Amino acid sequence: MRLSRSFLPTLKENPAEAQITSHRLMLRAGLIRQTAAGIYAWLPAGLRVLRNIADIVREEQDAVGAQELLMPTLQSAELWKRSGRYDAYGPEMLRIRDRHERDMLYGPTNEEMITDLFGQIIKSYKELPQVLYHIQWKFRDEVRPRFGVMRGREFYMKDAYSFDLDHDSSVDTYRRMMLAYLRTFQRLGVRAIPMRADTGPIGGELSHEFLILAPTGESGVFFDSALEEQDWLGEDVDIHDRGSLEKFFTGMTSFYAATDEMHDAEAWAKVPAERQREGRGIEVGHIFNFGRKYTESMDITVSGPDGAPLYPEMGSYGIGVSRLVAAIIEASHDEGGIIWPETVAPFRAVIINLKSGDSTCDALCEKLYAAAPEHFLYDDRAERAGAKFADADLMGHPWQLIVGPRGAKEGKVEIKNRRTGERTEATPEDALALVM
Ligand code: ATP
Ligand code: MG
Ligand code: MG
Ligand code: MG
Repeated sequence: MRLSRSFLPTLKENPAEAQITSHRLMLRAGLIRQTAAGIYAWLPAGLRVLRNIADIVREEQDAVGAQELLMPTLQSAELWKRSGRYDAYGPEMLRIRDRHERDMLYGPTNEEMITDLFGQIIKSYKELPQVLYHIQWKFRDEVRPRFGVMRGREFYMKDAYSFDLDHDSSVDTYRRMMLAYLRTFQRLGVRAIPMRADTGPIGGELSHEFLILAPTGESGVFFDSALEEQDWLGEDVDIHDRGSLEKFFTGMTSFYAATDEMHDAEAWAKVPAERQREGRGIEVGHIFNFGRKYTESMDITVSGPDGAPLYPEMGSYGIGVSRLVAAIIEASHDEGGIIWPETVAPFRAVIINLKSGDSTCDALCEKLYAAAPEHFLYDDRAERAGAKFADADLMGHPWQLIVGPRGAKEGKVEIKNRRTGERTEATPEDALALVM
C-alpha cells in the first residue's frame, strides 16, 4: 500500500475521548473510527490486523477438528424462548421487531441457534462428537461501552460449540480446545493465562477464562509465573488420546491461576513467593463445559447405541477477536506507539523514503516495494523525515526499511527493528530476506 494514496489517517494529537493507551493508539494509527456509541468501522490497516488474528484463530480451531460454518447475526426470539433465555438475558440483548411484528434479536451469542441446527442435522450418536464454530459479529448493548473496541457494543467473536455423547468425551473436547487456545494466543505473540472461572449464567461446572496481563485490565489476577514460561506450541500432546489430553490438562492446571472472583488465599499461599504474580488482566477468551443445559431445555436428542434417545453434552468456547486487537496493543507498545507482534502486524515492514522525488531514492524504494507490495506499506509522502519516523513508530510495523540519498547512492538500506530499536545497514536483497 502506498501511504500517499491510502485511507490510513494517522493523528498527531491524542484524541480527547480515549482514556486508555490502546484506544488512543488505535485512533491515532488510523485503525478504527467510531460510528456510534460502542460501534466502530475498521479502516484498512485495522481490518488487516483483525483478519490476521481471525486467520490464526481459525487455523488452530481447524487443527483440533472444529468445523467452520457461518450463522447469521439476526436471530428469531422463538429460539430463545425455547431455552428460556429470552426473558432471562436482560437489557444487554438488542431486541428488534420486523415489519410483520415478529420478535427478532441481534445475537449476543449462539448456543440456541447452534443447538437447533445440530438437532435438525445430527440424528445418531455415531455422528458425535461435533465441534462447530464461526467468526461473526455479536451485539451486546453494554451499559457502559468504553475503551474503544475493548468493550464495544458490536464486536467480533469466534464462538465454538461442541456436542459429545457423554461427559468424559466432552471433557476431552474441552481439553483439546484448551490446548488450541493456548497455542492460538502464543502464536498471536501474547501471553494469555488460563484461569479457573465462575460458570455464571451459562451454567455448568468446568470453565476457564484467558487473560492478557495489562494494568488497564478489568479483573484482578493471581497466578504462578510458571504459566508464562510454557511453550504450548512445542508441547507434545496427542489430541486423539484421552491419557495424553489428561496429562497435559493436569499439568497445566497444577499451577495456580485465578481472577479475583475465584481467588483462594489458602492455595495461593502454597505458591513459592518468587513465582507469585499479581496484577490485572483483560479477558480475551472464555471456555465452558455446561453439559445438557441446552439440549435438555430445547429437547434436542440423538439416538443412542441402544436406540433410546439421549441428550448430547455441550460446551461453548469464545475468543474476543476484536477485543484482542486492543489487548495486544495494551500488552505491546511504548511511548512511540504500537509494537505489533509479527504474526498480527498489518504490514511486515514500512519502506521509508527520506527524500521522495530524488530519483535514486525513489528507484530503490520502488524496487523494495515491488518485491512484496501486499506486505509493505510504502511511505512515499512528501513529508519531513521526522514525521515519517514518528508515524512508522506509531503504526508499529515490525520492521522499517529506511532509504536516504547517501545510502541509496551506495545501494544500502537502513533497517530498524521496531521492538528492539536496533539499526543495521544492508543491501536491498539482504534487507528483503530479513523482513520476509
Ligand atoms: P466481559 O466479562 O468482558 O463482559 P463476557 O464474560 O461477558 O466478557 P463472554 O460471554 O465470555 O464475555 O464472551 C466471550 C469473549 O467475547 C470474551 O472473553 C471477550 O473476549 C469477548 N467480549 C465479550 N464482550 C465483549 C465486548 N463488549 N466487546 C468486545 N469483546 C467482548
Ligand atoms: Mg459481559
Ligand atoms: Mg467476563
Ligand atoms: Mg466471559
